[in-house]
Amino acid sequence: MEMDEAERGFRDSPQILHDERLKTYLSGVLCKTVGFDRCGAARIYVVKDHRFNASMAPNGLMIVNTGLLARMHSEAELSTVLGHEFGHFELRHSLNRFRALRKGTDWLAWLGMAGAATGNDMTATQNAIILGFFSYNREQEKDADFLGAAYVRSSPYPLRASAVWKRLAEEDDATREERKLRKLKRATPGATDTHPTGAQRFAYFSQLEAEIGAQNGDDGQEQFREETSRILPDIFAGLVKGNDFAGADYVIRSRGDALGWDGLLLHTRAELYRLRGNPRDLITARQFYEKAITLPGAPPESWRGIGLTAMRTGDTENGKVALKEYLAKAPTSNDSAAIKMLLEN
Ligand SMILES: [Zn+2]
Repeated sequence: MEMDEAERGFRDSPQILHDERLKTYLSGVLCKTVGFDRCGAARIYVVKDHRFNASMAPNGLMIVNTGLLARMHSEAELSTVLGHEFGHFELRHSLNRFRALRKGTDWLAWLGMAGAATGNDMTATQNAIILGFFSYNREQEKDADFLGAAYVRSSPYPLRASAVWKRLAEEDDATREERKLRKLKRATPGATDTHPTGAQRFAYFSQLEAEIGAQNGDDGQEQFREETSRILPDIFAGLVKGNDFAGADYVIRSRGDALGWDGLLLHTRAELYRLRGNPRDLITARQFYEKAITLPGAPPESWRGIGLTAMRTGDTENGKVALKEYLAKAPTSNDSAAIKMLLEN
């Protein structure tokens, strides 16, 4: 009961992305993954949080971060993560953990995690390890992984878990390189590790996928692309505005490589470069914006991007032309007054 009350507050939080179509879509993928007889236990909420994370509470409330959706490339990949979280739920891991915590305030802290998310500075590997807010032990994580894989294997989806862990490792490498940290040795984990590392997960899922052999199921890649492209700015907002340029660039590029580049995705990459704003970035950003407007799906803000990067690199004349085009395409935008002032100077 305490949980349900907290859930009502949670539902009204500004951190929740309210998009019924997305929720229905995610519920559908979950139902296909774990079966229509089971999935009714879950109520999905999408949280505006750039980190790779999902979790499920003992009352059936399931959280999916926008950062998780940004990093997935198909329904099949998504099904491995949703199946994992549902696995914890079925195995009562979160309930046991909740009982161990005992205090309701801890539960409220869990519900409030979305709000706390923003200031945190974590590498992708840490993100991966906290998949599920509760700190489950290594055996529980592994059990949830294998139960999740079992759901996927009896679903219409092929098992695509290893690809997810491979990319998380690559993203982490990119982040570490940028921060001049040493790359993690992805060999055998230490005896004190309480969680399976990304490397271990990559290893056992690769082995499992090899044992299964050829898989015929449909990955649901096209459907996934369509449903997430529709709300791409919401999904990528946190990553673009965050502090991990290299990691965010990796995530955007890997999506483009897998699902193709449309105007909106290329615009997103342009924004990432413009916001970092090194002189070289502004030139690169302008190139991306200019390419974006030749592709389907480019938003009016691509013209704004061309205008701003042109002006900042000294090409005032073309900058003004592009900004006027932006105002013509988006006359009621929030920044139209500021843009008009730029044009008067
Ligand atoms: Zn887990």
